[in-house]
Amino acid sequence: MTRTHLSVAAAVLLLVLPFAPVPDFWITQLNYIGLFSLVVLGLVLLTGVGGLTSFGQAAFAGIGAYATAYLSTTLALSPWLGLVAGLAITLVLALVIGLLTLRMSGHYLPLATICWCLALFYLVGNLEALGKYDGLLGLPPITLGDFSFQSERRIYLLIWLAALLAALAVTRLLDSRPGRIMRALNTNRGGGATMPEAMGASTFRYKLVMFVIAALLASVSGWLYAHMQRSVNPSPFGIKFGIEYLFMAVLGGIGTVGGAFTGAALVKLAEDQLKVVLPLIFGGSGNYEIIVFGVVLVLVLRFAPDGLWPLMSRVIARWLPGAGRRAVDETAPPLSARSHPQRGAPLLDVRKIRKQFGGLVAVNDISFAIRAGDIVGLIGPNGAGKSTTFNLVSGVLPLTSGEVELLGQRVDGRGSRDIARAGLSRTFQHVKLVPDMTVLDNVALGTYLRTQSGTLRAMLGLNAAEERQARAEAMRQLRRIGLADQAHELAGNLALGPQRLVEIARALASDPSLLLLDEPAAGLRHKEKEALAEVLKQLKAEGLSLLLVEHDMDFVMKLTDRIVVMEFGRWLMEGTPAEVQASPAVRAAYLGADE
Ligand code: ADP
Ligand code: MG
Repeated sequence: MTRTHLSVAAAVLLLVLPFAPVPDFWITQLNYIGLFSLVVLGLVLLTGVGGLTSFGQAAFAGIGAYATAYLSTTLALSPWLGLVAGLAITLVLALVIGLLTLRMSGHYLPLATICWCLALFYLVGNLEALGKYDGLLGLPPITLGDFSFQSERRIYLLIWLAALLAALAVTRLLDSRPGRIMRALNTNRGGGATMPEAMGASTFRYKLVMFVIAALLASVSGWLYAHMQRSVNPSPFGIKFGIEYLFMAVLGGIGTVGGAFTGAALVKLAEDQLKVVLPLIFGGSGNYEIIVFGVVLVLVLRFAPDGLWPLMSRVIARWLPGAGRRAVDETAPPLSARSHPQRGAPLLDVRKIRKQFGGLVAVNDISFAIRAGDIVGLIGPNGAGKSTTFNLVSGVLPLTSGEVELLGQRVDGRGSRDIARAGLSRTFQHVKLVPDMTVLDNVALGTYLRTQSGTLRAMLGLNAAEERQARAEAMRQLRRIGLADQAHELAGNLALGPQRLVEIARALASDPSLLLLDEPAAGLRHKEKEALAEVLKQLKAEGLSLLLVEHDMDFVMKLTDRIVVMEFGRWLMEGTPAEVQASPAVRAAYLGADE
């Protein structure tokens, strides 16, 4: 028996439970836990994975609940139409709110979701048509043909079917092409937009997708809740519940699917107990449980910041093996190769590019060209403007002036995503891997532009063939750089040297025409530098075109055909390694700077 078997067994058990002589009380509790889990699953994706905090999920549940309440009472339409309408309204609202706020950084989204949750609460509470603060009563039960989900035991089936399917869909999504990008976005874990954009992904689009999915899950929960209660009023959709959902997510383990269920169950069960016990102790009828939750939250954040599920799953892991490493099927057909220029054809032409930061000219009218198959070095003392030049060429920074042509296309003024699509791939001076993803998955992220599966395909599990290809490609690239035996290790557990190599493998997985490496040898130990030099020599032998930014002169000398030297943002000289080595000007620059 493995952990996968355990999950399946738990799911089956949950679905047959209402047919067993379980007390009604427990069915009711589980109904609530299922409803909460649906909302919290959205937060796992949005907040835990994507790093985007929302206090407004209760409001999306409210949309789902009120849409069906209005349609099924006032207009006497089917609850299924209510579901469709609720989802449609949620979709539009989530898109509008997301488009307005997701481009802004940090606290704007949480603030916007608070405002929006408050606004909806008071709007609904004051609308005559929606029954003001008394809400709407007398909702019909959901029916399917002649079968009515009227009793608690029956709607239980719908609730848990929805929750378990959502869990399956989110699990699949996280382990897919879009999921790898989503997992790279979390700025709280050192991620951000720069790396996924350089791999060709629109990070804004994925933030929006996560926001919409989370909103839709909440909306479904609201729909089920409304027909379970057979009535709606504004109170369960206010900001208090918005905060409580976030609390469940944090308590359970905000980055994990299991955490959504753990958090929902713990909060629901604890709340009921505390509501009984605390007034007995303190007297009166205050909402004492909120105080206890506050204290618990502080303790959890202090002592188990990843939540309780990761702790529990570690205990389970001690007893039960995992499903085993998903084997990489290297017989999968290769991903289609991108077209590459003939050896010697013009590849990159940089003409008088310039970057000014206020009064500082960091890159002062630099020009150079690379032909297919060239290995060119860009060197200069610290602060010479190498990284900035690099960021201008790869589209991470906008140019002040000048032109960049890649494979005959003008790419200046275009973002790094477009430039990646045009055939350039890069690594970063400060390594940008997703630490809690395996080495293999990190490299598979590089196949983004060579694969197509979108979010829906991934959630439905229709991406299996392409995933096999992507993983096989990742494995091939890891073999190419000599790290195949580390494929299943978490990237965060690797030393800096191997991490830099993984970045190279990820860049290679996109099958680039030109590979840009920013200080690949920086911070490496001697042995690691030698390993890196071997890999680069091999890539050179395979005919790859490389632009190598490096501070370490000796390292570049052995590898490159030609070297461009910069100093104080200016072009100093260009020549063969021997010419550069012999140049008094270069020696003076290095001596004068810091050597
Ligand atoms: P190198 O990579 O050759 O060490 P950089 O390109 O990182 O040099 O930096 C060149 C110069 O531009 C330095 O003086 C640096 O302080 C400045 N610089 C780099 N990035 C920025 C920025 N975002 N804002 C202001 N100044 C910058
Ligand atoms: Mg630099």
